[in-house]
Amino acid sequence: MLKRWNEDAFRANLSGRPDLRINRDRYEGRTRLLGKIRTKLLLSGERGQPADRGTLNGVSVLDVQLQEGDVWHLLDSPLLENEVQGEVDDVIRTDHAAQHTAQHVISAILQDEFQIKTVSFRTGTEESTLDLDLGDWDETLQSRLEERLRTVIQANLLITATEYTEEEALQLPLRKTPQVTGKIRVVQIGELDYSACGGTHLASTSELELILFTGLEKVRGNIRLAYVAKDRAFRLLTTERRVLTETARAVSAKKIRSILLWKT
Ligand SMILES: [Zn+2]
Repeated sequence: MLKRWNEDAFRANLSGRPDLRINRDRYEGRTRLLGKIRTKLLLSGERGQPADRGTLNGVSVLDVQLQEGDVWHLLDSPLLENEVQGEVDDVIRTDHAAQHTAQHVISAILQDEFQIKTVSFRTGTEESTLDLDLGDWDETLQSRLEERLRTVIQANLLITATEYTEEEALQLPLRKTPQVTGKIRVVQIGELDYSACGGTHLASTSELELILFTGLEKVRGNIRLAYVAKDRAFRLLTTERRVLTETARAVSAKKIRSILLWKT
């Protein structure tokens, strides 16, 4: 069976009867649930993306971790039932998918058009980062990258995930040699990017809506770029706009007070 999140990363309210064993041992005061549901329901955070959130039988899943081949769920309260139905928090999954899709797009443009390689990346809960094999960054480069990102978002490139045999996958222009053998899941973004990847992604580049760069620093001789995409980017704009408006108001109030003082 295909992984559910492979088929459709955005289907809300995944439900069913996962093949689970419930281990009623206590784990830090909470029930731990041991089961093979990695392939069917919640995605643990082992693929460079934060773990899913959701519920199992209505109980909140606080964390999902892969340990020695088993997926552990830290639950808000113990589960008493032997059958489990789960729901994925679709808002959080979409948000993680957006940040991760942005990483694919930024890395592809940087590598293909500016010959800058991505050394590593991290999807964070606030902002995400890319470490680039580059000593210096300048504003011209940033403007050109931002312009290209706008073009790619507007182009509405289709994003698909397809499983190939190893032989088939190696015929594709993959960005990196796959780390896995056997069936290989290849994520394709139009003709921009072919990557072997097990993460969650948006369905098209237009769903990214907006990517904003939020930080730049030198880390171990590389350039680390921080960014936010989609809703996170709009929330950031709203916050910054509010701060600017409040600052402008405070400055003009101060000016008026100065004028009044000067007149008296
Ligand atoms: Zn990916």
